[in-house]
Amino acid sequence: MTSSPNLTFNDGNTIPQLGYGVWQVEDDVAEKVVSQAFKAGFRHIDTAKIYGNEAGVGRAIASSGLDHKDIFITTKLWNADQGYESTLAAFEASMERLGLETLDLYLIHWMQPKQNKYVDTWKALIELQKQGRVKSIGVSNFTKEGLQEIIDATGVVPAIHQIELHPFFNQSELREFNASKGILTQAWSPLGQGGELLSNDVVTNIAEKHNATAAQVVIAWHLAIGNVVIPKSVTESRIQENFAALNVTLDAEDIEAITALDKGAEGRIGADPAVSDFQ
Ligand code: NAD
Repeated sequence: MTSSPNLTFNDGNTIPQLGYGVWQVEDDVAEKVVSQAFKAGFRHIDTAKIYGNEAGVGRAIASSGLDHKDIFITTKLWNADQGYESTLAAFEASMERLGLETLDLYLIHWMQPKQNKYVDTWKALIELQKQGRVKSIGVSNFTKEGLQEIIDATGVVPAIHQIELHPFFNQSELREFNASKGILTQAWSPLGQGGELLSNDVVTNIAEKHNATAAQVVIAWHLAIGNVVIPKSVTESRIQENFAALNVTLDAEDIEAITALDKGAEGRIGADPAVSDFQ
């Protein structure tokens, strides 16, 4: 069976480059679709406390028959739990729901600059890594300045930065900044949430050329430019289709044409981490 390539973090651990995300998936559905994702070949699952489905993901892991060493699980610390002690407590609660002893990757979900607790929160993640409870630590939805601040305050560079990233919003500047610090870039909403992007002419023409689907071409683009990518679907045939994107190899000109679809800030779907302030 095909398996995802691994990318190596700055801490020496590795992450399967293609994973499966479960935002907006009910807890009981999560158990079913994560099981289907494992069956399709995915070995990397992306959840978060706020998704309300860590327990469902945990049940899918428990019933999978897979060894933890052969799978990679990410969860995220929610905004309301930021702060040193509250992070340590929130981590334990997530682990309880997941039914895991150690976690592969823990992320600060949003920087939340107004709340201004991300430095203390980062220190708590560093402590959890020191204790061996989590193998790798990173952040999501930070600005360059915020990243620099947590690095300067602690000397510890995040392993990965998970950000909104798809062909309409390709984040070339932030990707470059991440790379310059030795931080991997992970793309959330990699398919642009399945909207207009998948019927875009450039994408569908490239798909036709490769006898692939539009979703596969977009995933192949992410893989080609070095992103860790976590598409979501709750439809088993699409879960399989998305995993099979590993078999699609784009030409340099395809990659260039998809990269040129960028709309800059106008392409953003979600909140702007520089100003986001929600609980
Ligand atoms: P996505 O870009 O992965 O799009 C998912 C949607 O695309 C599906 O609901 C479906 O409508 C469509 N789709 C999926 N596969 C398809 C296929 N093969 N053919 C046609 N349509 C298809 O969107 P997402 O769920 O927002 O992002 C993926 C993951 O990223 C999430 O599940 C979550 O794990 C993560 N995420 C993280 C953050 C964050 O703040 N860190 C924010 C959003 C998402």
